[in-house]
Amino acid sequence: MPMLVKRKKGEDTGGDKENGLGTGSKQGYFSDSQWIRLLVQVFFLAIILWTGYRFYGFVSYYQNHQEAAMVQRPPGVEGFLPISSLMGLKYWILSGDFNTIHPAGMVLFALFLLIALLMKKGFCGWICPIGFLSEYLWKAGRKVFGRNFMLPRWADYPLRSLKYLLMIFFVWAVITMNLSDLKDFLYGSYNKVADVKMLYFFTQMTTLTFWVLIVLMVLSLFVKNFWCRYLCPYGALLGFVSIFSPLKITRNPETCTGCAECSHACPSNIRVHQKQRIRSDECMSCYACVDACPEPDTLKMRTSKKSKLSLPAWAYAAIIVGLFLLFTGVARLTGHWHNSIPPTEYHQLINNANNPDLQH
Ligand code: SF4
Ligand code: SF4
Repeated sequence: MPMLVKRKKGEDTGGDKENGLGTGSKQGYFSDSQWIRLLVQVFFLAIILWTGYRFYGFVSYYQNHQEAAMVQRPPGVEGFLPISSLMGLKYWILSGDFNTIHPAGMVLFALFLLIALLMKKGFCGWICPIGFLSEYLWKAGRKVFGRNFMLPRWADYPLRSLKYLLMIFFVWAVITMNLSDLKDFLYGSYNKVADVKMLYFFTQMTTLTFWVLIVLMVLSLFVKNFWCRYLCPYGALLGFVSIFSPLKITRNPETCTGCAECSHACPSNIRVHQKQRIRSDECMSCYACVDACPEPDTLKMRTSKKSKLSLPAWAYAAIIVGLFLLFTGVARLTGHWHNSIPPTEYHQLINNANNPDLQH
């Protein structure tokens, strides 16, 4: 396998100025691991774009009063409904009823939680289209402006807690719902049409939404993964779960020279060279630190400090894609993928999705 193109000594790769790890002026390599990750990110992005395109056709069919060509609804669109899916999971655990309104959402939500539990925040680093966009925005920002910026610690810490506050708000709201409220929500009209409302969020965007998205994108050019690091409640939940993951980036202090190349390379600004195991909720298993380490067998994804076995990026990619195919395949085969909303109801719901009585 072709190896890394090593950067010259002293060349900056984009670390954390505040922490004394550089300013992000140059990035000199793109390793095999990063190519594999890019391939997986493109694979999932292609699925998501295809799903969005099909869902747009499905909604248009009903908006046009079924006069255009019929497009089957792609159930994968429910992957964008994590709160409904969390409610569905709780309802399933407590009642045994696997709700038939957004079953695919529950399957995908459970899969992403499992990935976080087993393999750190792999969803953010390998699957999420927002994470993918954010990554290439800060990389573009660094190319154009010569560097990225790190907020000072006094701003970084409180801002990072914002996503946790949002996450606690949503999770607490679901935890405190009783079975009857959960059932009312899951089988109610609002939830049935939640995916359509999400489509309208983009296709019928308000001026305010447009400018908020532009501001977030501009900030992402300068600050690495601005949305993910400070605001995403989904990432916060997965980050919290990932703390319990047995697989973690693990440093061998016996062979480590303390050069800090790993910390310079980390997009989450984790001080990898000072830790033996990366427990941080911000680690998204991107392997950038592993690629950057010049010492063989020093930095690896392992289950424990003493473990001789390690998980290379290609195996990590295979497990992520394999689990996705397994979960979605089993869900399809067992009838837990497609929902049960009949076409007549969809016709009525889609054409009334903006009505005030379908607000929540
Ligand atoms: S610690 Fe390593 S794997 Fe984790 S986010 Fe940083 S560079 Fe990526
Ligand atoms: S783990 Fe590797 S890159 Fe990080 S400080 Fe040690 S030798 Fe350098």
